[in-house]
Amino acid sequence: MNKPIILCFFFILLFSLPGLAQNKPILHLKYEQNYTPTYREVIEMYRLLDATYENAKLIENGLTDCGKPLHTFIINSEKEFNPEKIREQGKAVLLINNGIHPGEPAGIDASLQFADDLLRNKNGLATLLKNTVVVIIPAYNIGGLLNRSAFNRANQTTPYETGFRGNAANYDLNRDFVKCDSENAKSFTMIFQKWNPDVFLDTHTTNGSDHKYSVTLIAPQPDMFPPAQKTFLRKKMIPSLYKEMKKGEYELIPYVMWMSGNPQKGILMGQFGGRYSSGYANLFNSYGMMTENHIYKRYADRVKSCNQFITVLAKFISDNAGEVINSRKRGFEEMISAKTYAIDTQLDTTRFSKVEFKGYAADNNQISKVTGLKHFDYDRSQPFVDSIPFYSTYNSIDSVEIPKYYILPQAYKRVIERLALNKIQFTKVKNDTIIKVKVDYIDEFSNAKQPSNGHYFHNIVTTQSEIQNIKYYAGDLIIPVRQQGIKYILETLEPKAKDSFFRWNFFDNILDRREYFSSYGFEENALKYLNEHPEFKRKFQEKKKSDSEFANSHRAQLAYIYYNTEWSEKSYKRYPVGRIY
Ligand SMILES: [Zn+2]
Repeated sequence: MNKPIILCFFFILLFSLPGLAQNKPILHLKYEQNYTPTYREVIEMYRLLDATYENAKLIENGLTDCGKPLHTFIINSEKEFNPEKIREQGKAVLLINNGIHPGEPAGIDASLQFADDLLRNKNGLATLLKNTVVVIIPAYNIGGLLNRSAFNRANQTTPYETGFRGNAANYDLNRDFVKCDSENAKSFTMIFQKWNPDVFLDTHTTNGSDHKYSVTLIAPQPDMFPPAQKTFLRKKMIPSLYKEMKKGEYELIPYVMWMSGNPQKGILMGQFGGRYSSGYANLFNSYGMMTENHIYKRYADRVKSCNQFITVLAKFISDNAGEVINSRKRGFEEMISAKTYAIDTQLDTTRFSKVEFKGYAADNNQISKVTGLKHFDYDRSQPFVDSIPFYSTYNSIDSVEIPKYYILPQAYKRVIERLALNKIQFTKVKNDTIIKVKVDYIDEFSNAKQPSNGHYFHNIVTTQSEIQNIKYYAGDLIIPVRQQGIKYILETLEPKAKDSFFRWNFFDNILDRREYFSSYGFEENALKYLNEHPEFKRKFQEKKKSDSEFANSHRAQLAYIYYNTEWSEKSYKRYPVGRIY
């Protein structure tokens, strides 16, 4: 080592120590010029931060569909990046995901800005690292980011170039968390399970209704959580985030989901299920949320308001680390002692609070500069401030009794792979055996006309339950329900749950028959059955007497015998996951 190198090393070491401010940011972000970095530039910038600060590290975590690795960037107070060791110190974990929709890159820039600010201890920010560790996924949809063009987002003008929504396998990754088709989702699951974040943020941009706010929030919907967490969210976390944002340059409002045609009639808080990032986090009682930046604002304002939210969120977690961690712990205890679990909910339209809304008048008579015709637009010359209803309460409309175990035949490898990825514990049946279980028959199911993200999702599912003695084989899975992933287990294995594996086609093989009867082949067996079962024969003959159409149809009569006796295959439409109570 020559002298300049030693000196340089000394300075890097000196400025790496948390609490010692670097005066200037080391990254050169160009969001003020409407430029968002390319995927390679993003990774290069995190590499630079990693090389500059010893309390930060960029690591690879499995692959994505385009063959490139998924990175995480970890910022801790010291040179320790092992999740178990960090958790042992009682630190809360904040996980931030960016670029799931590459056309919505504000969070990519905002996270880079935040990392730079935090590491150089801008305004004393680094104190939050005392009890919080920040984990950033710099860019999730790498394939989409590499597919960069000025024509990927028809409704936005800046940044001038962005990536494309579909990933390398053309999945919308924000529908893929439960079904986990993409390599991105599999690698994400491993990251999520490794860190078990207390709070999770996924950054987005929306072109929904126009208003004055640069950033909006899809908060964790409190009614999706057990009582202790619900109270913490409603009484403390959500109000604090809005209050603290109000102190800064950019105010925050809930993501604008209209009740009916016009925000002035009210907006609602959505419930996002396990296919979505925040809903997936909820399956593990993590406080999952999404920011939605507003497309019609300057790109720099989108980035800065997102950065302000990340800063407010990280500070809230740090100021309340004990409560964040303990409320999750209590929530888990409440979940495992619960008897029932809500699998369907409905917005309560009788309960609402009032929120201030700064909007623009909607106008159906604007004249288009493109077509010269009338069209819907907002009149920015007519701003208004109104107090509007905000609906945020959901009631359970369907629930299940929580079983002690689910029994899953080993044949369903794709389901088992996902359970294992999500660290679900199970044992295996030791010897072939018959077990008395409660099973569901799928009554109705809807067949979507169009595929959605590679699946023909079953939007409608109705079932009927039966107690049956079913043969299971050595190696089939016995899944105890009351464990860390209880909610994930219930939401994926209860067929009627909103994002169940059944709905996502993992069990479609049960929905058609394997055997059949022929009008002549079944004759001999049908006759033998009638003769050996006089009670059934009597019913059959009564039906012939009372139903002339039936009496005149050879096919209908054979079908009656086939479908109402042991001949009818038991496994047809029988959901193969058994429940033990
Ligand atoms: Zn999005």
